[in-house]
Amino acid sequence: ADDMHGANEGGGVHAAPNTLEPYWMPFTWNRRFKQAPKLVAGADGMHYRTPEGGAVLDSMAGLWCVNAGHNRERITTAIQQAAAEMDYAASFQYSHPAAFQLANQLTAMAPHGAFDHAFFTNSGSESVDSALKIALAYHRANGEPQRRRLIGRERGYHGVNFGGISVGGIVNNRRTFTQLPDVDHLPHTHDLEHQAFSRGQPEWGAHLADDLERLCALHGPETIAAVIVEPVAGSTGVLVPPKGYLQRLREICDKHGILLIFDEVITGFGRLGSSFAAEHFGVTPDLITLAKGISNAAVPMGAVLCRQGIYDALMADAERQGGTIEFFHGYTFGGHPLACAAALATLEVYKEEDLFARAAAMAPVLEELVHAFDDHPRVSDVRNLGMMAAIDLKPWPGRPGELGYELFARCFDKGVLVRLAGDTIELSPPLIAERHHLETITATIRETLDEIA
Ligand code: PLP
Repeated sequence: ADDMHGANEGGGVHAAPNTLEPYWMPFTWNRRFKQAPKLVAGADGMHYRTPEGGAVLDSMAGLWCVNAGHNRERITTAIQQAAAEMDYAASFQYSHPAAFQLANQLTAMAPHGAFDHAFFTNSGSESVDSALKIALAYHRANGEPQRRRLIGRERGYHGVNFGGISVGGIVNNRRTFTQLPDVDHLPHTHDLEHQAFSRGQPEWGAHLADDLERLCALHGPETIAAVIVEPVAGSTGVLVPPKGYLQRLREICDKHGILLIFDEVITGFGRLGSSFAAEHFGVTPDLITLAKGISNAAVPMGAVLCRQGIYDALMADAERQGGTIEFFHGYTFGGHPLACAAALATLEVYKEEDLFARAAAMAPVLEELVHAFDDHPRVSDVRNLGMMAAIDLKPWPGRPGELGYELFARCFDKGVLVRLAGDTIELSPPLIAERHHLETITATIRETLDEIA
């Protein structure tokens, strides 16, 4: 039973026996998974393919990232061509043209014409920690080195590096690990009393942003470097910002000279029906963190977009100080040639197929389908915005997360990949999804829920 389905018998350099055991899977119930593994071996469009050849409809765009659908030929061809040309180039002291092309394109498409530089990373977690460092470096360059405090938010997810878990607000990701000093948190915006079963943005809750004024009064606004939020909190269950909330955060940050960072690792590249959430909400942050959909996930990549004036401040400071390197930070693989090739091809696909507009057009269909669960006896809340949605299930008493896993496992066996975060169903299909795909996804969820709950 330990043999990995469909894997080579023996083979490989050392011909080690092929079992599931040596792989320590991230954010996974390993003991349960290894009793009944769920594996995929191929992908195309809206579907994965199992090693046995079965089709699995993807309701999650992989992990909120394959926005243009799987195995897009233009993207895979671009990667193959780039790999044949040049395996690797660093961007420390020398670089390659595709990195500059991509920085040009990203800044050109960035919200409100307000961003003029891009810094490349390899993941969302790296983008977050890079953005936090850019914020601190900016204030130092601007003659305010005392601005070192970072403000995150309860139920925020900003990846798993030490910066990200410190500003993040998920207890299980934090309790075991040390944190950055000088961090505080805003309250999250999810309130069942006032917002249950909201369609799109809740009416109630803009005032929760005013808690930033309380933190300014508590710590001294001149000590605060940056506030980081996901415009829509994704991983903790699609928590949609109340109307006016993000605008209010922006106003308070402006009043006190605090940088506002939008973590758009999920919301970037069309998820809300526009290039970025900043555009959707009409709010311009100072830094935007990106990853996932930037390369359609075909090669790991991330980026930080910087608002006009941030890069310039670091250049001017280095000029005054007589320094050479302006920012002491970077990754060996940042701006990797294969990632840049994948991202450039991905941006072409988004544009040519007008996928962000397509997402905007399909969003009402997703909204109708998920809110059909509003009166389901096993459901405690339903939320949605753009092409993301969440359905909260009432957990099995004393066994949090087990109903969720059971639902995931049974849906997978029926040919639908559904992401469960604990007992919350999270939907974020590729932006190429058609009505019938979304209907199949929600029908399978309903049938399975009725079977087990
Ligand atoms: N920030 C946000 C908002 C995310 O949703 C994620 C991943 O889901 C991350 C950061 C971390 O990205 P990665 O897993 O690529 O490090």
